[in-house]
Amino acid sequence: MMRNLEAFRQFFQTARKVVILTHFKPDADALGSSLGLCGYLKKKGHTVNVITPSDYPDFLTWMPGNNEVLIFQKEKPKAADDLIANADAIFCLDFSSLQRINELGVMVQKSKAKKVLIDHHLEPEAFADFEQWDQTAASTAELVYRLIADLGEENLVDANIANCLYAGLMTDTGGFRHPNTTIEVFDTASALVRHGADPAKVSKLIYDTNTLERLRLMGYVLSEKLQVLPQYKTAYITLSSEDLKKFSSQTGDTEGLVNYGLSIKGVRLSVLISDRKENIKLSFRSLGEFSVNEFARKHFDGGGHKNAAGGQTSTTLEETLKKFLELLPLYKDQLLG
Ligand code: 5GP
Ligand code: MN
Repeated sequence: MMRNLEAFRQFFQTARKVVILTHFKPDADALGSSLGLCGYLKKKGHTVNVITPSDYPDFLTWMPGNNEVLIFQKEKPKAADDLIANADAIFCLDFSSLQRINELGVMVQKSKAKKVLIDHHLEPEAFADFEQWDQTAASTAELVYRLIADLGEENLVDANIANCLYAGLMTDTGGFRHPNTTIEVFDTASALVRHGADPAKVSKLIYDTNTLERLRLMGYVLSEKLQVLPQYKTAYITLSSEDLKKFSSQTGDTEGLVNYGLSIKGVRLSVLISDRKENIKLSFRSLGEFSVNEFARKHFDGGGHKNAAGGQTSTTLEETLKKFLELLPLYKDQLLG
């Protein structure tokens, strides 16, 4: 439970203008927890704006409230700056370091608004006045629900809010399959369904709404790009900008690809390295004790969770792959152990 919940409750009796921020290239948990919280705060009478640093996949645009999201990269930065500067409260959801929201982080630091962190990533930065932080929680969506429940206002959670939060819970547990799928996860899922969430609908909208190009990209990756290094129990995929262009790849099209590497029998570490316009992006997944959070933090300017993390470099795809491959011998014992 939030340490200073009573102070939080009191503060929100007068705070009117609220901004909700989430991380670059938001996933279903980032956007779902933001729009779920937004729906709740609007019902409480606050003026709420959700700002994302970048765009997000098409399979998330069904979420109620999507139309009002301000996408910083697409729209006038001035609008976001004004909202942030004039906010009474700023919520930071599903990220724990202001670096992950690029220029927006500087605006947040400058703003006099009270900052509220709701997150489940490891090693959060201490910048918030109120923290609903729990690294054992499977999703940020769960933490949003818990905060509403702790405030005694579960009755305000309607089907729209519940569907947004359910989406975050479902995806951050890999469809209720990862080791973070605890009793608490099922308890929260069941509460959300009771409030109107529709599991079949959300699952269809997120997992089974592919474009043909995305499926072709997946086929190409699996047949041509997936490499396995049995001596390190490691799988990797690299995607050049030409690969991505060839399949008219859209934001979100590569999501989930890294899991295929990890699904191979014996593999314990999987990485997807892709050439984005801005930088080279790495996506890591592991099984068991190997911490990709530590690995990404130490070598690739990133972080995340023990078994799912991300990072980036500002070199080339080839150099990034070379660096990754050269690190493997140093981790051989951990990978084989
Ligand atoms: P994904 O591989 O799906 O992009 O990210 C996996 C997990 O790592 C997510 O929880 C995501 O928030 C986190 N993550 C991804 N990229 C970064 C990064 O550059 N820095 C940090 N700190 N976390 C990241
Ligand atoms: Mn999350």
